[in-house]
Amino acid sequence: MSELSSRMALVGLSPTMKGTIEAERLKRQGIAVVDLGAGEPDFPMPPHVAAAAHAALDQHFTKYTANPGTLELREAIAYRYREDYGVTYAADEIIVTAGGKQALFHAAMTLFGPGDEVITHRPGWPTLIEQIKIAGATPVVVDTDPDQGFAVTPAVLLGAVTPRTRGIVINSPTNPTGALLSEEDARVLATEAAARGLWVVIDLCYEQLIYGKTPHNLPRAFADVLRGRTVICGSASKTYAMTGLRCGWMIGPKSVVQAASALQSHETSNANSIAQKAAVAALTGSQACVADMLAEYQRRRDALIGWLAGEPHLRAVTPRGAFYLFPGVQAFLSPSGCATSMDFADRLLRDEHVVVTPGEAFGAPGHIRLSYAASMDTLEDGAARIVRFARRLAAEA
Ligand code: PLP
Repeated sequence: MSELSSRMALVGLSPTMKGTIEAERLKRQGIAVVDLGAGEPDFPMPPHVAAAAHAALDQHFTKYTANPGTLELREAIAYRYREDYGVTYAADEIIVTAGGKQALFHAAMTLFGPGDEVITHRPGWPTLIEQIKIAGATPVVVDTDPDQGFAVTPAVLLGAVTPRTRGIVINSPTNPTGALLSEEDARVLATEAAARGLWVVIDLCYEQLIYGKTPHNLPRAFADVLRGRTVICGSASKTYAMTGLRCGWMIGPKSVVQAASALQSHETSNANSIAQKAAVAALTGSQACVADMLAEYQRRRDALIGWLAGEPHLRAVTPRGAFYLFPGVQAFLSPSGCATSMDFADRLLRDEHVVVTPGEAFGAPGHIRLSYAASMDTLEDGAARIVRFARRLAAEA
C-alpha cells in the first residue's frame, strides 16, 4: 500500500519540471541556455509598485492581515474592475489570495466535489484540471480546434454537459495558446449556464495582456446574467510583473467568498502583507506600465512569428493574448527521430540548448510552447536555433 494518501494518486507533477531541471544542470556547466520556458514576465516590477512594497517593509507592515485580505486592497480590486469593466462588487464579495492559483484552488474546493463533472478546455493550463481532481470532482476536458485559432467556444464547452455537470472552468486569454473566449460567446455561455444552473469559474490571470484592443469584458458578460453563479479569479502576477510576491483574488457571491475565507483561515491565513500593499499601488496607480509592457510583448510576438516563418512547417496560430506562442511540430516528428513533442523538446535542449515546454504539459502533444517573456536578443537567438534544429530533423527523417 502506498504511504501517501489516496488523493495523491490523482495528482501529477507538471511535465514542465523535467526541462527546467535539465536546463539548470546545463547552466551550472556554464552552457549558454536560451530559456523560452518561463511562465512569467521578464520585466522588473514597475517602480511605483516596488516603492509601495519597500514602504510596507519600512513601516513594518509585516504582521497578519485580515484573513480575506486588507479592506484597502479589496476596495482597490473593486475599483479596478469597476473602472475596467463597469461591474460593481463589494469588499465582502472579494478575497485576496496567494496568487491566482490559490484563488482557483479555492473556487474548485468550495464549488466542486465527488460526483460532480467539471468542464474545462485544452490545450490548457494543467493546474485547472489537477485542482478539479484534488477537489474530488471529475474533469471533463474538451479540445479546442487549431483551425479556429484554439478559440474557446460555447458550442465546444456545452457539448460536454451531462446531468452531472456542476460547472465550467474557463481560462481566457488561454495559456498556452493565447486564444480568447469572445465577449459575444461569453454572453451565450452565461445564458446557457444560467438555464442549466451551472457555475462558471473564469481564470482571468492574463486579462490585461490582450493585443489590438480586442473587446474582452467577460466580467460584465457573465455578471449581467449569471452573477450569482460566476466566480472570477484574477492576479497581480502577470499584469504587474510581480509573480514572486504571490497576490491574486477571487470575486464572486458572498457565500462562496465566505467559504473560501474559511478554507484560507486554515491554510495560509492571508496573502503576504507586503504584496498586498504593492498590489494596492499597482491596481490604483497609473496603468501606463501595463500598456508599455503589452506593447513590448506585441513587438516580440510579431518578431518571433517572423523569425520562425523561416521554417514554414513551424506555423503557429497568432496569439491574441498572454505571452506564449504554441506552434505545431508534428511535421518534424518520426518514429526513428523525435517521436513526440516531449522528445522534440528534450533534444532541442540537448542539441541547441533551448528550453521550451512540450505540448504534453498542456494536454496537446505535437506542439511546443515558447514564452516570449524574454528579450528580443534572446528570442532571435532562440528562434534561429529552433529553425536550425527543425531543419536538421526534417533532413534526418
Ligand atoms: N492561470 C494561468 C492560466 C496561469 O498560467 C497562471 C500562472 O502561470 C495562473 C493562473 C496563476 O498565476 P499566479 O498564481 O502567479 O497568479
